[in-house]
Amino acid sequence: MIRSITQLKSEEEIDRLLEGLMRVFIVGCGTCVTLTHTGGEPEVTAMNESLSKKGKLITGQTVVPVACDNLTSDMLGEFGPQMDQSDALLIMTCAFGVQTIARQLKKMVVPALDTLFIGKETGPGEFNEVCIQCGTCIIGETGGICPVTSCHKGLVNGPCGGTDNGKCEIDRRKDCVWTMIYNRLLDLGRLDSMRIIQPPRNHLGEPTPGKMILPEA
Ligand code: SF4
Ligand code: SF4
Repeated sequence: MIRSITQLKSEEEIDRLLEGLMRVFIVGCGTCVTLTHTGGEPEVTAMNESLSKKGKLITGQTVVPVACDNLTSDMLGEFGPQMDQSDALLIMTCAFGVQTIARQLKKMVVPALDTLFIGKETGPGEFNEVCIQCGTCIIGETGGICPVTSCHKGLVNGPCGGTDNGKCEIDRRKDCVWTMIYNRLLDLGRLDSMRIIQPPRNHLGEPTPGKMILPEA
């Protein structure tokens, strides 16, 4: 399952973002941030208690099922009066959720979380980044393993000189991804791919802002 991986902003940053905003309505999300314990029911309640102790008036709180869904404004509709009383919504969701809510409601939004990456759950409570949508995918030549996200240096031509007995010099607990790529290509009988020199990454391949319009059928 692919998840949006987030972490709580520091208390100082949240306090700064909420400066002058005395009445706050808190929104969490029942999907990724519930799984990562950054914006589910317990975290929203803890935030409510923490801000209340600092003198904020919490006009209400809720955890919507999927904050990045276009139906979120309907879900929030039942809290209309409580949201109207607030100066801002403190959103404990990933940036997709924050932006979805900002687009749908005419209300000041304050994010409480930083969105780190889109990750795949690789074990209980463990998430790995799998793709940063770099726009020039090379995994056809690396045995389906992405070095852009898995190599600590993001090397597209590896390994670096620091690889040591299959371990990464930056983090000895981790396998060097270029050794993994080598072993995978060896298994597949495609070791020749290791000789391909990838051109420097072309950041023009990363459309900003990203937009895709499908051709008419
Ligand atoms: S090479 Fe780029 S597009 Fe392909 S998996 Fe890695 S980050 Fe994603
Ligand atoms: S040791 Fe391997 S994974 Fe670590 S930075 Fe060097 S090439 Fe990348």
